[in-house]
Amino acid sequence: MQTTSTPTHCPYCALQCGMNLSPSPAGGVEVVERADFPVNRGALCGKGRTAPALLSSRVRLTSPLVRSAEGALTPATWDEALGRIAEALSRARAEHGPDALGVFGGGGLTNEKAYVLGKFARVVLGTSQIDYNGRFCMSSAAAAGMQAFGLDRGLPFPLADIPKTGCVILVGSNLAETMPPALRYFTELRENGGTLIVIDPRRTRTAEQADLHLAPRPGTDLALALGLLHLIVAEGRADEAYIQERTSGWEEARAAAMAHWPEYVERITGVSVPELREAVRMFCAPETAMVLTARGPEQQSKGTDTVGAWINLCLATGRAGRPLSGYGCLTGQGNGQGGREHGQKADQLPGYRKLTDPAARRHVAEVWGVDPDSLPGPGRSAYELLDALGTDIRALLLMGSNPVVSAPRAAHIEERLRSLDFLAVCDVVLSDTAELADVVLPVTQWAEETGTTTNLEGRVLLRRQAITPPEGVRSDLHVLHELAARLGVEKGFPTDPEEIFDELRRASAGGAADYSGITYRRLAEENGVFWPCPAPAETEDGENTTPTAPAGAAAPTEAGSYEDASPTALPDGPAPTKTQDSENTTPTAPAGSAAPAGARGYEDASPAALPDGPAPDEAASAVHPGTPRLFLDRFATEDGRARFAAVSYRAVAEEPDEAYPVLLTTGRVVSQYQSGAQTRRVDELNAAAPGPYVEMHPRLAERLGAADGDAVAVVSRRGRAVAPARISRAIRPDTVFMPFHWPGEGRANTLTNPALDPTSRMPEFKVCAVRLELTAGE
Ligand code: SF4
Repeated sequence: MQTTSTPTHCPYCALQCGMNLSPSPAGGVEVVERADFPVNRGALCGKGRTAPALLSSRVRLTSPLVRSAEGALTPATWDEALGRIAEALSRARAEHGPDALGVFGGGGLTNEKAYVLGKFARVVLGTSQIDYNGRFCMSSAAAAGMQAFGLDRGLPFPLADIPKTGCVILVGSNLAETMPPALRYFTELRENGGTLIVIDPRRTRTAEQADLHLAPRPGTDLALALGLLHLIVAEGRADEAYIQERTSGWEEARAAAMAHWPEYVERITGVSVPELREAVRMFCAPETAMVLTARGPEQQSKGTDTVGAWINLCLATGRAGRPLSGYGCLTGQGNGQGGREHGQKADQLPGYRKLTDPAARRHVAEVWGVDPDSLPGPGRSAYELLDALGTDIRALLLMGSNPVVSAPRAAHIEERLRSLDFLAVCDVVLSDTAELADVVLPVTQWAEETGTTTNLEGRVLLRRQAITPPEGVRSDLHVLHELAARLGVEKGFPTDPEEIFDELRRASAGGAADYSGITYRRLAEENGVFWPCPAPAETEDGENTTPTAPAGAAAPTEAGSYEDASPTALPDGPAPTKTQDSENTTPTAPAGSAAPAGARGYEDASPAALPDGPAPDEAASAVHPGTPRLFLDRFATEDGRARFAAVSYRAVAEEPDEAYPVLLTTGRVVSQYQSGAQTRRVDELNAAAPGPYVEMHPRLAERLGAADGDAVAVVSRRGRAVAPARISRAIRPDTVFMPFHWPGEGRANTLTNPALDPTSRMPEFKVCAVRLELTAGE
């Protein structure tokens, strides 16, 4: 039995809250506060607090299952189950070619698993058909970030900067439900005199905290951002000197915005011109400000353009790449950031390298010990891959995902999964997707294995094993090792996570997401390390030299700490504001410069500041300290300039009409996580959030004749879902909301539209047209 407390991280969302796991008197482990981790400072939501429940749950899978001749899933040995998978994959490849094999990963997989899964697909299976559910999460923000800054890291600054900025525009994020401990940063922002603007069609618990809540019609926030930029220009609030010095593409973006008159934007969005003006005033008044987006603007068929328009606001006002300012994306899944960096995306190799880049292919192929020409090219994006199941793709290996609930147009995707020749699923429980599989492998959970994740700040973290997994359960890494061997690749697929991480470091070296200077030892000692963190370069005589900061990273200070690059002396109190003649009332230090000694901060993750970390001289001479803040000196584009997006408004893929007159938007509730495969099996969470509902305005309910709790059918062109009405004035009268965590008749994703963003290939989860029917008495 476990006898000591183990510091680790929550298995769920991208905040990756720190927690200690201690032996429980009842057996197993229990969660104990871990106040030393700066991100959550001891706070946890109900999901994190109850996370150990699934470790010892009765519904936990502890034996492989194989489908019998009679069609039932029955227990089998590991040898039999792995043998069946290897045989099915070999057969499909022999009959239909390597691209008949699909691999689908997840944003909750550790960095090591994501890395090995990508390598397995390309080296062992030789298939291009790999993607993952993170495509459904933040891919539009990633694409827009790459276009604007040349680099995608969720937040280019630590969360600890939020309370010190002057104003935050939070677009399409309900973090009071999705990551409650993060709400404290915004509460403290307001306590410090800063302001919070929330953009959301619903008056959510997050919106209730705002100084200004704008509730645009779903799918119109691109127009909203353009209208705000129009006013910024018209009111002479653009920072022309910054634009001149640090950006490109302004004239085109400016011209596009000027075509979006505030009155026109009001007609599209429903947000009034005075509200638009007030938002501009609040955003532009302080010297520092941020725009943070989440799934609202991102999960649209124009998500990349929408995020680009929000980034434009930061560029036009001189905020991006300046201390305590800029644009960031609040990534959702636990390893949503790391999961997109190490090669499980259809178009990428480890280190955020492009699969189409010959130099990138050579570098990674050398680490993998294979011929670069043997590596397949880019494959299909997540929805396109799932849509091809049973046609071009005959066999699928799925790890860490539950698309039966989480994919758009879910009934169709369920049908595609059923039409496969062969489906293998690795999971901890018999998820809705695992129920359809030919073979199910029971795998270890977060507290039973060691591995790394990268949180929404780009902070690489070590999750430590706290308990021994149950008999009969093995890690995903073991599965890939065994399958590789059975498919004829004996080497290159170890099961030790640290050995894999060391290979990942080499594969990422020199890439955008450079992990080469990060080790398990450092992660344990430093409470995480921000990438990029290059390894010390070796001189000819074998000596280490100080690593150079990668493009887009802030230069290290004399103490070797990037963490201390905050600009101001950060006195407790409000953020600096502009006087009427635009002179700052509080002086700020130049971009990229270090904070004076004694600067206030919630954290100091620099190695030098930590008791067990290297001394400052040592850190400066050999060890890269990591990069909490990006872009302070230059952006990661070729010319070092951030690029404006010249975008114009376009409507959602499916506008309401006579047959489908109401808008549907989907989202999350605090007690469930993503497809609910894990959290629906935790009694306390299930009791708190037992099922879906249809939130609607009283006026809409009256028109429908529905009372609170009445069963309402929501019908779209893709199907029908039924759930009880929840009547609330928190939502617009033209819109209904459904959380998407449940399967069955209340499955919200039965309804959602798979119309894809042309760049990010993100489906339009956030808005589609529906009609409502009262089903009571049916
Ligand atoms: Fe923290 Fe997210 Fe886990 Fe809740 S689910 S404890 S917010 S990491």
